[in-house]
This record gives sequence, C-alpha cells and structure tokens, in this order.
Amino acid sequence: MTLEKVSIREMQRAGKQELPVEENYEFEDLPTKGPVYTVALVELDSTGLTVSGRFHATVEEPCDRCYEPYEREIRESFEEDFVFNHYIEADRPGEVELNEEDFYEVIDPEGELDLKDLIRQLIVMGMQQDRLCSRETCDIPA
Ligand SMILES: [Zn+2]
Repeated sequence: MTLEKVSIREMQRAGKQELPVEENYEFEDLPTKGPVYTVALVELDSTGLTVSGRFHATVEEPCDRCYEPYEREIRESFEEDFVFNHYIEADRPGEVELNEEDFYEVIDPEGELDLKDLIRQLIVMGMQQDRLCSRETCDIPA
C-alpha cells in the first residue's frame, strides 16, 4: 500500500518525531510518465512539522514553441514547513507572530499531511519551467 497521507495524530500518539517515507506515486491527473519516485522525511516538533526530501518525475507535455510533445525529467529537492493551526489562531501576546500569508503553511495537528498532494503541487510548479523542447526543428515556425 502506498503511503499518501501522514497522520499527525498517529505520529504523536506513537511518540514518533520522524517518519521516513519512500514511495512511487502515480498521478492520473498529471502528464507524468510512470511513477514519481519520492523520498521524504517528516519531522514533528511541538509547534508544527517539516517535510523535506526529493522526487524524480518524468513528464510529457507539448512544447510551448513547436507544440510537439516532448519528455523531460523534473528532479527537485524540497523542504516545507507547516505550523499547527492553534499557534496561528490563539491570541498569544508577546510570542512570535506568525501570519498565515507567510511562507509557513498551516496544518491541523489532528489531521493529516497529504504528502502526495504536496508532491503534485511541486511537480505542477516544476512543469512551469523549461517548457521548450530542444529539438533542432523547434525553431522552424510551422
Ligand atoms: Zn519545441
């Protein structure tokens, strides 16, 4: 079974601070070819969690210039910080102010970290770069 969502509550109950994940995710809704190999480490602390790792995806999309489909590799490292929502909502004068619009994402400590969806978002961001194939014929206007 593929581990797609990490239960924060279960990690806390089990007294686990770290959870290594190594999975091959299949995305039906992205132009990925084959599974996306993902290695990640989820680290919990009292205020939130950090997930770091890397993934390797092969995508096939039309080139922006010649419109021919071409394949390319997206390999990226990532590190994302999440803060438990009660640290954001609670009114705690004197403590560090965290704003939801900052680069921290907010997560429910009773909820789950959707790791597969995080990888999906990173692939989508990666797909917005290098959108031109490097075929010799690419420069020739059709
Ligand atoms: Zn092209």
